[in-house]
Amino acid sequence: MTQIIDGKRIAQEIKDEQKRQAELLREAGKEVALAVIQVGEDPASTVYVNNKKKACAYIGIRSLSYELPEDTSEAELLALIEELNEDDEVNGILVQLPLPPQINADRVIRAISPKKDVDGFHPENVGKLAIGEPGFVSCTPAGIIQLLKRSGIRIEGAHCVIIGRSNIVGKPMALLMLRENATVTVTHSKTKNLKEICREADILIAALGKPQFITSEYVREGAVVIDVGIHRDADNKLCGDVKYDEVSPHTSAITPVPGGVGPMTIAMLMNNCIEAVLM
Ligand code: NAP
Repeated sequence: MTQIIDGKRIAQEIKDEQKRQAELLREAGKEVALAVIQVGEDPASTVYVNNKKKACAYIGIRSLSYELPEDTSEAELLALIEELNEDDEVNGILVQLPLPPQINADRVIRAISPKKDVDGFHPENVGKLAIGEPGFVSCTPAGIIQLLKRSGIRIEGAHCVIIGRSNIVGKPMALLMLRENATVTVTHSKTKNLKEICREADILIAALGKPQFITSEYVREGAVVIDVGIHRDADNKLCGDVKYDEVSPHTSAITPVPGGVGPMTIAMLMNNCIEAVLM
């Protein structure tokens, strides 16, 4: 029987734990506060930002909202970040990506204090992850580790094949899997024999950003499949990188889209906000 990994339920469980943690922190006189910066009015970004604020409200994290106009200059954004870096009442700073073309996202990421970098994108935090030191970890891969652990899936010794090597998903995912003692293979658009390599996976993580690309030909019977992709299909329904209906009967466990990896990303962001207070 295939286990459908319920990311919505697991994320809710984590948010309830965080609510208690935030309460304890408040009793100890420490309030968790996250500054959320959005530049422009990209509708998808607005949905993400609103979901993050909603999660903050549920857990009891104060969210400070900065909605900047589309024509904000890089210097103006950097000045705001500098101000928030210095503000002792702000624990976490999040700049919603993508940014308008006049702003260099790398410079913005580097400007955020590594101690407030709750997205885990700053090179200092990425470096810490690489050498196994504690620091903020990119939320989507951190959420996948929680999904696996809380679903009773053994990572240690498993062969994990990751499709995708982006800085926010594929690469940190590989480092986290190594930390958990998996044997890791990272694949990308130049990989030869992708199907054969994927079929060797005990845990297959699809983060290539191509709708329903992964068919049953890529999956070994009984493998665990984690689908990171988010897309709209021809009927405007959400779908992932995996052809779910075809693949799921061949797996021992699989994440659906929606309701799999997605809800975990915000839950892990909230985790990083709480961690930021404890740093
Ligand atoms: P990305 O930056 O576009 O990276 C995609 C990666 O996949 C690249 O490394 C690329 O290889 C590789 N790739 C592309 N086509 C491939 C192919 N045919 N075969 C093998 N590898 C291929 O994407 P991302 O930011 O990592 O995101 C991946 C997906 O996850 C997207 O659908 C995104 O929307 C979704 N996502 C979801 C969440 C969530 O919370 N659920 C969070 C983040 C992202 P090269 O490096 O060679 O170009």
